[in-house]
Amino acid sequence: MFPQDIIIKKRDGGALTKDEIEFFARGVTDGKFADYQATALLMAIFWRGMSAQETAWLTDAMMRSGEVIDLKDLPGAKVDKHSTGGVGDKVSLILAPLAVACGLKVPMMSGRGLGHTGGTLDKLEAIPGFKVQLSVPEFRAILQKVGCAMIGQTPQVVPADRKLYSLRDVTGTVECIPLICASIMSKKLAEGIDSLVLDVKFGKGAFMKKKEDALTLARAMVDVGKAAGKPVWAQLTAMNQPLGRAAGHTTEVIESIECLKGNGPADLMEVTYSLTGHMLVLGGKAKDTAEARQQMEAAIANGSALKVFREMCAAQGGDAKVVDDYKILPAAQKTIAVKAGATAQGFVSEVDALKCGHAIMALGGGRAAVTDKIDHAVGIADLIKIGEPVTPGTRLCTLHINDEAKGARAEALIREAVAFSPAAPKLEPLIQDLIQ
Ligand code: URA
Repeated sequence: MFPQDIIIKKRDGGALTKDEIEFFARGVTDGKFADYQATALLMAIFWRGMSAQETAWLTDAMMRSGEVIDLKDLPGAKVDKHSTGGVGDKVSLILAPLAVACGLKVPMMSGRGLGHTGGTLDKLEAIPGFKVQLSVPEFRAILQKVGCAMIGQTPQVVPADRKLYSLRDVTGTVECIPLICASIMSKKLAEGIDSLVLDVKFGKGAFMKKKEDALTLARAMVDVGKAAGKPVWAQLTAMNQPLGRAAGHTTEVIESIECLKGNGPADLMEVTYSLTGHMLVLGGKAKDTAEARQQMEAAIANGSALKVFREMCAAQGGDAKVVDDYKILPAAQKTIAVKAGATAQGFVSEVDALKCGHAIMALGGGRAAVTDKIDHAVGIADLIKIGEPVTPGTRLCTLHINDEAKGARAEALIREAVAFSPAAPKLEPLIQDLIQ
């Protein structure tokens, strides 16, 4: 088998065989497929697409390019959640301990933030001492002891994706549904899960701007799950305004802990309860979402979800005192209250999530390139939400800043992000679909 024959076949619109796809996934890992050949094939896939069967074979071959974690010896249902990302999406920090408090095991391998979207690992690293780079035996031991562990992808897991993603990133081949599907699903299926819930975001602050594209991706991922024999449900969630009232790292950790204490904002709790509820149904802990909701509300009210969060922090080297003392988190030098101007009147009609994400980047809290360092202390808190009333002087948000010039740029972006209308706007539903 020669790489050029596979490239030509796909270039001309042919369907690849299982063997050809396996040769490709193995070849990018062991070097038999040179980078220039791999990128030529990626571009051919970008234009010609892949059938559901080819996508399932690619996912499987990528998953098997490295270690597939086997958690069969751990008792209980192992269920994870993956979000395609957005601004202010800190659901994982709340959902994992909540799901454990309701009886599941949650083995979660997450990613870092890039561009305007935040990453779970970066948020956790705002907690002093919290380690996300753990070995598979350490991951397993924490899962056994606490019930959840939240770590970064180990170098042994899906090396084909590491290679392919870095090539896609610099060759204009990221926005391709079969490639996105295989990339996400190969990593999730390598975690040793029994089932999976996906939160596929669409809108201004999401990777997928259009709902139709998000739906196509959601269906492709659910189908790949079925082909792998794992139940996968995908929820479609709007991401036009940030989720919750905080975006950044320290600010999002505080908001997550407040959710676990029962003080979470309505939109963030709606998404968290919905996704965790699906996990509890898939994992056999609740017969339906109504029963799941009762269990989750009890786990928040009786403190058991917060207790799991504390235990996970301690097990991963983090200072669990964070739960009682937010002052141990990295703090910015200054806060600025951004207030509505003299002509503001009526209601908030828009809080553009993309512009808010750019404000975080302007403050130094985001990454333009994967190697960039981020400032955990800066961010947005007290963010106003669509539909809330506004008059001159109403607080739009509080910016946590470490640099006056960066703070001024971020303030300008927040002012661009927030729009007003004289009448209350029609609120779009946050959760719009469930693909099973
Ligand atoms: N996230 C991934 O892990 N892979 C993609 O291809 C896109 C988003």
